[in-house]
Amino acid sequence: MDNGFGAGYPLGVLFDIDDTLVDLEGAMGATLHEIADEGLSHLSDDDWIEYKRLYARDPERHYDSFLQGRATFTEQRIKRAAHARAGFTSVPFDAEAAAGWNRAYESTLPHHFRAYDDVVPLLDVLDERNIPYGVISNNVHDYQRAKLDRAGLSRIRILVGIDAVEAAKPDPAIFAEGVRLLGTPAARTLYVGDNPVLDARGADDAGLVGVWLDRAGVETAGGPQRRISTLSSVLQFLPPVR
Ligand SMILES: [Mg+2]
Repeated sequence: MDNGFGAGYPLGVLFDIDDTLVDLEGAMGATLHEIADEGLSHLSDDDWIEYKRLYARDPERHYDSFLQGRATFTEQRIKRAAHARAGFTSVPFDAEAAAGWNRAYESTLPHHFRAYDDVVPLLDVLDERNIPYGVISNNVHDYQRAKLDRAGLSRIRILVGIDAVEAAKPDPAIFAEGVRLLGTPAARTLYVGDNPVLDARGADDAGLVGVWLDRAGVETAGGPQRRISTLSSVLQFLPPVR
């Protein structure tokens, strides 16, 4: 039988967290609105879209500096904010302003962590079918544990962060730690994430079965082999129910 998986149907599922299970971009946007200062009061609706996009998408890749140990988590966050602000306001974002902004951001963001609507129904099915699941994320364990709990996903017990094996996706070592904890062979473990390179390709290269969750329907030519637009489509990869 050719099910597309040479080794047989997947026996377990690992997920990315941010913008896969938890709507981080939405939480960031809501937070930026909530803590906006005078310097941003003149922004139009379109400006807001662009300002939030600049912050969340991080075109200067400050988050990579954090993953590579060249910036702290707070430093990358402040640099992203400074970059996003630069196009919209001349109000200084000096060290004192940045520190105040960061405090407000940090205390506000967790209130906006939400799971996407398609997460709990999928986890319910996986539980019913005794299919183990967990997460591998490019952030530290404790921060992501608190995020999952805030988002109502305490049921996810297996969580691998970058501090588990001192590696970040797409390093095969972090995927290997995920399958070790899940107890399933890599070749029979799905990895589902919103980033086609770090998640889908990274998982494939580490010997798992990578799946790109393309919620926005971007679909690019030459993209990952397996693409879904909603988490419920994960079920198509699992053994048929008899
Ligand atoms: Mg992600």
